[in-house]
Amino acid sequence: MTSLPARRLLLVHAHPDDESINNGATMAKYAAEGVQVTLVTCTLGEEGEIIPPALAHLAADREDTLGPHRAAELAAAMKELGVADHRFLGGQGRFRDSGMMGAPQNHREDAFWHAEVDAAASYLVTVLREVRPQVLITYDPDGGYGHPDHIQAHRVAMRAAELAAEPTYRPDFGLPHAVEKVYWNRVPRPVADEAFAHLRAEDPGFPGIASVDDVPGVVDEEHITTEIDGSAYAGAKTAAMRAHATQISVHEPWFLLSNELAQPVFATEYYERVLPPRTEEEADEDIRESDLFEGIEDA
Ligand SMILES: [Zn+2]
Repeated sequence: MTSLPARRLLLVHAHPDDESINNGATMAKYAAEGVQVTLVTCTLGEEGEIIPPALAHLAADREDTLGPHRAAELAAAMKELGVADHRFLGGQGRFRDSGMMGAPQNHREDAFWHAEVDAAASYLVTVLREVRPQVLITYDPDGGYGHPDHIQAHRVAMRAAELAAEPTYRPDFGLPHAVEKVYWNRVPRPVADEAFAHLRAEDPGFPGIASVDDVPGVVDEEHITTEIDGSAYAGAKTAAMRAHATQISVHEPWFLLSNELAQPVFATEYYERVLPPRTEEEADEDIRESDLFEGIEDA
């Protein structure tokens, strides 16, 4: 354990590309500062829609080889962010992309949505006890926007944090470990509103423009506890997003998903800290953290 870097950050995401869109600047910043950054991705995103026509043959309803292709995109994105430690929950291909809510793929035997939460969490407990992160980042209970794999990633991450700290739970998985801080990905509504207003005013000629409701994790300002200024890493973030070429087309400072609706790239990334809960003082004085490791001793 003495060989672990002093500060350690673990992120749990549903599909390759979610990490770069939500946390790319945060990941690049902390990796550059010598923090051990570990990404656990729960599925390969096999059901994703494919943007480049030349790669359409990879789709789930054709060759069904999008998963391994997206694993390679993820590896390229992690190079851009300087993140060396990225893993798939339970190993590559253990859990499959469940598709959008209500899709028949939700019910596949191997769909992540179909997985038993404690069983899926057990794979994450092994990572938590090995990497021993002080800080955990995942989605809110709605998964940011209601995608089954995002909801499940939230459940699995929160449950694994509990189990990892429980001394009687699977001692064979390593010494118990309690994360000190847990964050959910957020975007403050006024920030999203302003960015979309700017996008509409500039009208760069995209086929269409998304709306604030298309952005995961948008909440009112009072939920925001933490703001990470990643402007120095905006280039790394967009480079990582660009590496997910089947899913994202980047036109800085905007990007489009397969729905061809433009959205802003956020270089400042926002979080809601749920552990420890926001203090009264923080709420009253509207104090925001500017560092995920604030208050952690020996970090
Ligand atoms: Zn996703």
